[in-house]
Amino acid sequence: MAENLNLFTSTQDVIQDALNKLGYDEGMFELLKEPLRMLEVRIPIKMDDGKVKVYTGYRAQHNDAVGPTKGGVRFHPEVSEDEMKALSMWMTLKCGIVDLPYGGAKGGIICDPRQMSMNEIEKLSRGYVRAISQFVGPTKDIPAPDVFTNSQIMAWMMDEYSRMDEFNSPGFITGKPIVLGGSQGRERATAQGVTICVEEAAKKRGIEMKGARIVIQGFGNAGSFLAKFMSDAGAKVIGISDAYGALHDPEGLDIDYLLDRRDSFGTVTTLFENTISNQELLELDCDILVPAAIENQITAENAHKIKASIVVEAANGPTTSEATKILTDRGILLVPDVLASAGGVTVSYFEWVQNNQGYYWTEEEVNEKLYKKMITAFDNVYTVATTRNINMRLAAYMVGVRKTAEAARFRGWV
Ligand code: GLU
Repeated sequence: MAENLNLFTSTQDVIQDALNKLGYDEGMFELLKEPLRMLEVRIPIKMDDGKVKVYTGYRAQHNDAVGPTKGGVRFHPEVSEDEMKALSMWMTLKCGIVDLPYGGAKGGIICDPRQMSMNEIEKLSRGYVRAISQFVGPTKDIPAPDVFTNSQIMAWMMDEYSRMDEFNSPGFITGKPIVLGGSQGRERATAQGVTICVEEAAKKRGIEMKGARIVIQGFGNAGSFLAKFMSDAGAKVIGISDAYGALHDPEGLDIDYLLDRRDSFGTVTTLFENTISNQELLELDCDILVPAAIENQITAENAHKIKASIVVEAANGPTTSEATKILTDRGILLVPDVLASAGGVTVSYFEWVQNNQGYYWTEEEVNEKLYKKMITAFDNVYTVATTRNINMRLAAYMVGVRKTAEAARFRGWV
């Protein structure tokens, strides 16, 4: 039978497993197996050449039993309804794992911002906010950056919402530039959270960070900051990649140089001649592998060939269910996406709190609070995994889904 690469149905399977293990009945699964709301919009944009293009966008709100829903907006050609549903469910899990007062959501537009001008991207960002405005808001559903969206796009979206709302609404969206109410430390927060998970996992496996050989797939927001943190910690980043290829140096790459040369979409390998493929990168001999790019990268095809003893998922959904099983059977410690990448939404929450109270924290305060959240989350998931003798993905789903399930039960929904 062909491997299931559908993120939505494979997420449903793990949620069902987690709910069963927690002792909930079918009714709870019926509630949580898909988003409560799913909006599809069409956004007409006058392109620079004068022609009109109509883009399709989505916003999926998985569950708001705990509080307003929260999650990023991605601009990507492969955005689809099923992907949005899965990603919104993962946001519920992330918020549960780091114990935030939110449910999960996710948005996206089918487009390729790499082929668009700044002017077109601005129009699309503003058009999207107008299209979803009834559906979102600082106490309803709070968007944020995701793949190929950044603080500038958040600024345009916040401005558009504020104009419609007729007052300044910084809490409408997170991941904003600092001058518009963004939080210190938000930009590097995902990588910071991943770093904490890498360090904790390394401790469990007795690996010293100093000199550890790290491979990172993806050089976007998460991957690039992570490469920097790892090399600053004395680890050897021996491989990195972008959408076009990968670089490998067993002696360790010069990360500062690469950061200097990368463009705003994380592209850097096109400047080099000696590249390897993304598949070859994943199979490199290393201690720790961090997929920080896109979905379905470690599959039943290549899971046997992974040489790392620790895999920490910085991307959403990089490992399929079958591959998770293969890696686990091979004794590889897999730290799942819903835990490892939860640093971003954690500092988004801090940003929203600061916006609501109009009082802003220092970077040290943010980092300290993030550290506490991530360490507690890692320990909780690790403890469930070891005491129940299950893999960390299932353990993370159990920890993550419980808060929403309990909130839904107290509200009398199930
Ligand atoms: N898009 C990020 C994620 O997948 C961040 C979401 C947020 O900050 O709300 O976790």
